[in-house]
Amino acid sequence: MAQEATFKGDVSELSHSELRSEHQELSEQLLESSPAAHRREKLHDRVTVIWRELKSRVDETPPECPDCDAQHWTQNPGDAKRCSECGKHLSMDEIELVETIENYWETVLSGGTTND
Ligand SMILES: [Zn+2]
Repeated sequence: MAQEATFKGDVSELSHSELRSEHQELSEQLLESSPAAHRREKLHDRVTVIWRELKSRVDETPPECPDCDAQHWTQNPGDAKRCSECGKHLSMDEIELVETIENYWETVLSGGTTND
C-alpha cells in the first residue's frame, strides 16, 4: 500500500514548481487503484486548492463555455472535457475550444513561462 502523502502546507507559501510537482503527484494518486473514499476526498480537495492557487498566479483566463459562459472546465481520465457548471461535454466538433483549454491548462501548470 502506498503511504499517505503529506500535504506540503499552505499553498500560498509554496513555489510554483513545488505546487506543480505536488499537483502531479496527487493527481497520479487519485488515478491509482481506488483509494479509500475519505482519502480520495482529501486528495481531491488538496488538488483543487493547489490548482486554484496555480491559476491565481497566471494572467490568462480559461475560455468560456458556449452554453453557460462559465469558465470552469474539468476532465476525468479517458473522458471528454466538460463544463463544471452546466455539464456540457465537448466533442470533436469543438476541437478549437478543447485545444484552447489544453493550452490554458498547460500555461497554468508552467506558470506562464516556457523555461521554468
Ligand atoms: Zn457550461
